[in-house]
Amino acid sequence: MAASDDYVVGVDMGGTKILAAVIDGKGEIVQQAKTATKPKKGPDGVIKRIERCIREAIDGAELETSQIRAIGIGSPGPLDPETGVIIFAPNLGWSNVPLKAKLETIFGIPTCVDNDVNVGTLGEYAFGAGQGVKNLVGIFVGTGIGGGIILDGKLFHGINKTAGEIGHMIVDANGPRCGCGNFGCLEAVASRTAITKELQKAILKKGQKSKLLKLNGGKLDQIRSQAIAKAVKRGDKPTVKVMQRAGKYLGISVASIVHFLNPEMIVFGGGVIEAMRDSLLDPIRQAAAEYALPTTMDGVQIVKAALGDNAGVIGASVLARQRLS
Ligand SMILES: [Zn+2]
Repeated sequence: MAASDDYVVGVDMGGTKILAAVIDGKGEIVQQAKTATKPKKGPDGVIKRIERCIREAIDGAELETSQIRAIGIGSPGPLDPETGVIIFAPNLGWSNVPLKAKLETIFGIPTCVDNDVNVGTLGEYAFGAGQGVKNLVGIFVGTGIGGGIILDGKLFHGINKTAGEIGHMIVDANGPRCGCGNFGCLEAVASRTAITKELQKAILKKGQKSKLLKLNGGKLDQIRSQAIAKAVKRGDKPTVKVMQRAGKYLGISVASIVHFLNPEMIVFGGGVIEAMRDSLLDPIRQAAAEYALPTTMDGVQIVKAALGDNAGVIGASVLARQRLS
């Protein structure tokens, strides 16, 4: 079978949208479909929407279901990648949903599930920034912070399948409280949620002058990554300060990861990184170099993710292929 007609389906399921793509053996997207998740419809309603989205992608590619070798899905978790059961997904309101079994019943095609961040990391490893690298860590900075670990070309899950919870790595034990209840997790100091809180404190409480208010449409209840990036570009003092602090903590986490795992590469993705690019990656690199022990950082690459919004579907297709073989 030629690599270009060796098809699998990759699905990226989030709290607001579902993306499904038919992907060939070269990792190219042949056809893509998109729909709203509508979590209020409950698990069976959402699974029906996933089914429709997959069928639309297959149909758009002018293929039959029988030509699809496997389906891979990146889902919010925690979940069990072996059984394909979503244990708990607060954004979806799901608990103990046997997603893999339900889709295998519908399509009769081998299906596998892993968490969205692991799947995104796998996509970057196989077809994105990490091509040619064997050991890498992915860190995705958005509303929260998630991570994935690839060792020897395979996702590493750990005994309880919770490996890669980089967002809850404690970087300042005296730091602010995290959503998980601990203090000073990376997510509590460097996610968009944490950045928003710091900016609100500086601008609204302390009254520091800032262009951000205008750039974000006159309010600061939800600050868009693009507005933050623009404010930094214009040298807005409070925003620059808050982002340097976030970069420092992300860099400290990189130093810790390099100390205990020493991967060849750390790939940064997610909305905040996509918007800020080197203006955040540079402070991360600086702090990592400052905190890492001598020689430990030598040759370790800190790079931006390459696949953007496609990391999810492409990673899910890689997952499907890895499980097939
Ligand atoms: Zn935490």
